[in-house]
Amino acid sequence: MPRVPLRSDLQAMQGYHSPQVEVPIRLNTNEAPFAPPQEWLDEVSVAAKDIAWNRYPDRAAWDLRRGIAELHGVSAEQVFVANGSNEVLQCILMAYSGAGRNVTMFSPTYQLHAHIAKVVGANVVEGRRRADFTLDPNEISEVVGAAQPAVSFLCSPNNPTGMVEPRENIEALLSCAPGVVVVDEAYAQFSPWSALELVNDDTPLVVSRTFSKTWSMAAARLGYLVGPRWLVEDMEAVVLPYHLDALKQRAGVLALKYVSDMEHRVRDIVAGRNLIEQAFAALPITSWPSGANFVLFRPDNMSGKTLWKELLDRGVLVRDCSSWQGLAECLRVTVGTNEENAAFIAAVKEIAQ
Ligand code: PMP
Repeated sequence: MPRVPLRSDLQAMQGYHSPQVEVPIRLNTNEAPFAPPQEWLDEVSVAAKDIAWNRYPDRAAWDLRRGIAELHGVSAEQVFVANGSNEVLQCILMAYSGAGRNVTMFSPTYQLHAHIAKVVGANVVEGRRRADFTLDPNEISEVVGAAQPAVSFLCSPNNPTGMVEPRENIEALLSCAPGVVVVDEAYAQFSPWSALELVNDDTPLVVSRTFSKTWSMAAARLGYLVGPRWLVEDMEAVVLPYHLDALKQRAGVLALKYVSDMEHRVRDIVAGRNLIEQAFAALPITSWPSGANFVLFRPDNMSGKTLWKELLDRGVLVRDCSSWQGLAECLRVTVGTNEENAAFIAAVKEIAQ
């Protein structure tokens, strides 16, 4: 049978894939290096036996939304949960963008913002960051003023640069954006401030979060947004019925019992990040200040590709960003366990010194 052609506007697009290579030390996908607490795993196993598997789950996932709302001191009506924060972003883009509408972001940033926008048929208008990856508020007003986007994105801390967006830039975007402003905070727990404090029912601002990183639950695919009530209601129009399975809802509720374990893991990661940044500072390597669980870096005395390959030869896989626009020669390392960080630092020293 002849192959049915893919939608022509999708044919030129590349998916977002991180190449997986079998190596002892994988520091390329910004996952947590630690397993979640054993007690949580035990409780999830018990919950799995408890579920009425012949019944559909709670469509609105109220228990989980109430738990997340309590964590952030907001109302459950301001919380929407989905299968990873990527699905949250997809729902926002389906609800407010689509064909004939513009979506803006400021590159280099998380590639999925532009990717999902294109998949839902929207027109992507990318602004640029400065050479040091900070964002000029004038660029925000110029790009947004011209594009009049239905949805605008900022990512804080920004993936892949790791840099935290200052509050003034989020306020600058809010003051000129005609549509919804999304602050993607997948890495917020590692960072000194959060845009959650700017969320209210009168501001078209959404903050998206994930259980994939700090909560050590990437395999569960669970994310959420905190935003105005009207926006959370609008998500009903686009999300599939019963999108969030019963076990995942229970797993999320149970995870919230372990906030202090999570905070402990965050402190360990931040300590590991500091060690990696200190090692870079003593080597011919440029790196950018990170508020996340990863660090972007660039060797001064060889190509990024060479360093990437040499690290791989020593059993360490990092993310090669060197072909991404605006990131020539750059690599990104995810903070791992103490042992993984030590192995990475030893390998970098050996290669770059
Ligand atoms: N936003 C950013 C900035 C990310 O880096 C990631 C993960 N790569 C996501 C969202 C998606 O996370 P999730 O696993 O919740 O879909």
